[in-house]
Amino acid sequence: PSQFKNEKIIVLGLARSGVSVAKLFHQLGAIVTVNDRKSREQSPEAAELEALGINVICGYHPEDLVQADTALLVKNPGIPYHAAPIVRAQQLGTEVVTEVEIAYWLSKAPIIGITGSNGKTTTTTLIGELLTAAGLNPVVGGNIGLPLCEIALEVTEQDWIVAELSSFQLKGTIAFAPQIALILNLAETHLDYHGDMQDYIGSKAKILENQSEGDVAILNWDDPVTRAFINDCKGISFPFSIYDTLEQGVYIDPPFAPIVEGEPLPNAAEEAAVRSIVYRKSQNEPAQTLMPLQRLGIPGRHNAANAIAAIAACLMAGAKPEALVAPLEQFRGVEHRLEYVGEHRGITFYNDSKATNSIATMMTIRSLSAPIVLVAGGLDRGSNYMELLPIFRDRVKGLVAIGETRFKLEQVAKAAGLERIEIVEPKASAEQTLDAAVKLADQLAEAGDIVLLSPACASWDMFSSYEQRGSMFKQSVHTL
Ligand code: ADP
Repeated sequence: PSQFKNEKIIVLGLARSGVSVAKLFHQLGAIVTVNDRKSREQSPEAAELEALGINVICGYHPEDLVQADTALLVKNPGIPYHAAPIVRAQQLGTEVVTEVEIAYWLSKAPIIGITGSNGKTTTTTLIGELLTAAGLNPVVGGNIGLPLCEIALEVTEQDWIVAELSSFQLKGTIAFAPQIALILNLAETHLDYHGDMQDYIGSKAKILENQSEGDVAILNWDDPVTRAFINDCKGISFPFSIYDTLEQGVYIDPPFAPIVEGEPLPNAAEEAAVRSIVYRKSQNEPAQTLMPLQRLGIPGRHNAANAIAAIAACLMAGAKPEALVAPLEQFRGVEHRLEYVGEHRGITFYNDSKATNSIATMMTIRSLSAPIVLVAGGLDRGSNYMELLPIFRDRVKGLVAIGETRFKLEQVAKAAGLERIEIVEPKASAEQTLDAAVKLADQLAEAGDIVLLSPACASWDMFSSYEQRGSMFKQSVHTL
């Protein structure tokens, strides 16, 4: 930490992670300048930092922000690499990193890093619960909630940092090396930012890049991209699978049969009833049954995958297997992910606002067993959503389409032969639009059905966040 005294450091982006990294370096005696393109009015954090004596520039990027003697530029993960100050830093040879790299440099605790396209928050949260129950000391943060720099100096060797990591955060790392790295899956999302799939995969793979011999990589055996990473592992690889029995790792026994397009979808509850979660710590040890899959508190194959990935991480962190069973039964998932809202006229309502892409929506629908009236649609990123056609045909009895993509989803529903389709034109406010959508969904559904908000799209066409969208949906349901 002392090496940063009197060093000039620029923090680009005034979000929560920017604030925490600025405070941290200020505390270490560095000369910190924080810069954000947003205006001062949009930057309520500025005053707090200035009160500490930190230089804050809002509203534009000064041309001479980065200078030859700038030691380091810490960028918010969302700022693109073609932003002027970053280009200039790179020209001058100034190191450009994200906040998680700094936390890695400064903290003493070992790290469990979790990345992937879908399931990160669920798995990260679950790992936190499991480690707590096992008597280890997790501090959960990163891409969710707590910025790692907020706790970097406080944690000790006896703690575990459990960090959800986005590809944007990982792209800005240099030496970052978690003791336990977990890659859940790598679907085609976020292409608008990364430009192409190779760059996206490359960013995620950075979680493994600097690992050394004693470190652990927990990789999804069922995903061809992450399975291929096993060859590049520098440490121990401890995979997980829901489709294969493994010589070493955590898996479901008997394995699930692959879902075949054109054939009826298996019933989620029935297939869980005959399966168990099994682990095998090494090739020389016999397989051990941890618990029946049915006892897991979160439903569906994708959650079985999330759970066994979390179990793998905890076993490798030294948790006793017996300690994991009770919290696995009790964990009901995270808000806005297949969240139970309530019942009305015998219809069950679920909020899955976090499903911001087609794969997430597909996974959610597959984990439910009753007929579904789906409320979907949102920000248009150019996809045609035809990948949803088979699941619409098999499981969805009605669609209420909202947002920019409403007509595209209508097309998919028509092609799937749905008879009950409603389009909600934007009303004066997002609340009113959702109120109308919930009322229509309620009318399309009958007792025994499920009404599910699982938009398959980002929320920014109408809402400030998926959380806002989910909360408004719940509000609308409660007013029925
Ligand atoms: P993330 O943090 O990666 O966005 P979440 O845990 O918040 O993931 O889950 C978001 C949505 O993604 C869930 O509502 C669910 O529909 C879907 N999902 C969760 N886990 C998986 C998985 N392992 N594979 C595919 N989809 C998943």
